[in-house]
Amino acid sequence: MSAMPFFSDLKLLDTLQKTVEALGYKNPTPIQIQAIPHLLEGRDLLGCAQTGTGKTAAFALPILQNLAKNPVRSYDRETRVLILTPTRELAVQIFESFKDYGKNLNLNFAVIFGGVGQGPQVRSVARGTDVVVATPGRLLDLIQQKALSLEGLEVFVLDEADRMLDMGFIHDIRKVIAMLPSKRQTLFFSATMPPEIQKLASTLLVNPVRVEVTPISSTAEKISQSVMFVDRNKKKDLLRHVLGDKDLTRVIVFTRTKRGANQVSEVLERNGISSLAIHGNKSQNARQKALESFRSGKIRVLVATDLAGRGIDIDGISHVINFELPNVSESYVHRIGRTARAGAEGSAISFCDQDERSFLRDIEKLTGQKIPVVDHPFFSNNAASAPLVSRGKAKAMIERRYR
Ligand code: AMP
Repeated sequence: MSAMPFFSDLKLLDTLQKTVEALGYKNPTPIQIQAIPHLLEGRDLLGCAQTGTGKTAAFALPILQNLAKNPVRSYDRETRVLILTPTRELAVQIFESFKDYGKNLNLNFAVIFGGVGQGPQVRSVARGTDVVVATPGRLLDLIQQKALSLEGLEVFVLDEADRMLDMGFIHDIRKVIAMLPSKRQTLFFSATMPPEIQKLASTLLVNPVRVEVTPISSTAEKISQSVMFVDRNKKKDLLRHVLGDKDLTRVIVFTRTKRGANQVSEVLERNGISSLAIHGNKSQNARQKALESFRSGKIRVLVATDLAGRGIDIDGISHVINFELPNVSESYVHRIGRTARAGAEGSAISFCDQDERSFLRDIEKLTGQKIPVVDHPFFSNNAASAPLVSRGKAKAMIERRYR
């Protein structure tokens, strides 16, 4: 993929950059790009991601950097960072990752899990640690025995929250949460976000950054995709035309900008198509109301920007329409992933104008699929045959429109 960010774009310390280079990492993964800058600033994070996405480095690198930049020695039996994870295998894996990534920093790490003698673990945390990776049961044992304390904790990471719940750890987790200092940074990861998990997350996180990475291939394969070439000034006509098909029962329309979202929603309303826009400028209340109207079927079309669209988890979305193509190819996969949830069928239609031609190429490269072109009354040859330019140039062309 062109214009892929580098680790050097993420404000990481030189030594950490050198370490990941030595491990053979060339470019940061999407979750690393999205999470690292915010975590360095101390923000809370709600991450929807599975293992295999580079999740561990996404939280380990900024945690290590913040610890290294502010070196204080922990009191005996205290730790500055706690990572809670469901299984012994994961705990060991994360511990090993911290040792790998942090080997040139003067920090100490410990791992705690059940099923083995506790002596060595008790000793490993006795003089204070920077990072403890633990499974819930043994952690609570050691805390009860006063071998470990969470009093000086600065960062709490809850990993694989959905699996923790499935494995019956909810009471243990609640006990741990009750012991956390209120002033802390919290990171919450889960591969899925059922209501129970969302509730738990909302009690733990303060104004979190939301990061979602979808396993790229699996999502894109289930969804029937098409592209419509159209001139920019004909997109609204095309949208009305497309929505003339009653099979489009529950539709999300994505735009690049908040203003665009409002405009599209107004045009639809004027044409008797019930719709609402959601984006970052709307209050939480207004967004919630719009989502509720959409969920209940009161409105047929929800118009959203990428950020506002991220958290939308509504079943039965029949179609996603990309009124404008995103310049970040991963966003395309997130957008179309709003449909075809839970094994249902779904369709994604993308409007592509002349300036967006290069974004389409990047998306096809990322998903490894050619998106079929569909004919329609507003078909534009200019858009279909527009010369391909670099992504940077394409982005500049698009941004000029909004000045
Ligand atoms: P995780 O999702 O944290 O379990 O990571 C999955 C695998 O990807 C691990 O083996 C990591 O070492 C590796 N990994 C993490 N980040 C990168 C990267 N930016 N480039 C290449 N490999 C990576």
